[in-house]
Amino acid sequence: MAHTNFSDLLEKGKLKRLGIMGGTFDPIHFGHLVTAEHARESFNLDGVLFIPTGNPVRKKQSGVTDKELRFKMVELATEANPHFEVSRIEIDRPGDTYTVDTLRELKTIYPDEVDLFFITGADAILDLLSWKNTHDIGEMASFIAATRPGWDINVAKQNYELEQIQVDICYLEVPALAISSTYMRQRIKNRKSVRYLTDEKVTNFIFDHQLYMS
Ligand code: ATP
Ligand code: MG
Repeated sequence: MAHTNFSDLLEKGKLKRLGIMGGTFDPIHFGHLVTAEHARESFNLDGVLFIPTGNPVRKKQSGVTDKELRFKMVELATEANPHFEVSRIEIDRPGDTYTVDTLRELKTIYPDEVDLFFITGADAILDLLSWKNTHDIGEMASFIAATRPGWDINVAKQNYELEQIQVDICYLEVPALAISSTYMRQRIKNRKSVRYLTDEKVTNFIFDHQLYMS
């Protein structure tokens, strides 16, 4: 079998519940990491696969950092955690990135016995209504919606439309970290410190490559 992420677990039949943490990760920060770790623990996930978005449709106008650099930062931030791995599937897929295509691809890699749990923050879960092929997405994965400072998770819980679509959503409280990639980019641009907002290896990488300076 071709090498897949978590292939060891898969071969041993120990991959039953796989978390998926999607994002632009421009750059990755502790908000992403703590959310993934708590989702893993709370929902007994066997691992979390981080999937950096290749060509995010929503961020076309504002522009994003080169995908290989974003991918590398996710690798650096996750390498110390044996339960985390990073996938290239969105990085390597040409054209606009849609979650539905990613899930279809994951379904060809992982057998049906592997349940997929897509982890999002409170802001992203409300967005779900506008994603492409929500119905198909719901047939392939469940969602874990985590609390995030600045967004009220109850708005999602009480959203009638979200309740109507055939998507299984679980809610999860994670330690509140009011960190966003936008906040980090702004701080770097203004020559302010971003220490302790993300892994030190990521901070060093950002400065070595002079990212977000202008
Ligand atoms: P940007 O400001 O560029 O949009 P971001 O910090 O929102 O960046 P994304 O890559 O857009 O990061 O988010 C990826 C996923 O991580 C989304 O589901 C988002 O809701 C979630 N997320 C990001 N930051 C946090 C946080 N501090 N707490 C909980 N979830 C978060
Ligand atoms: Mg965001």
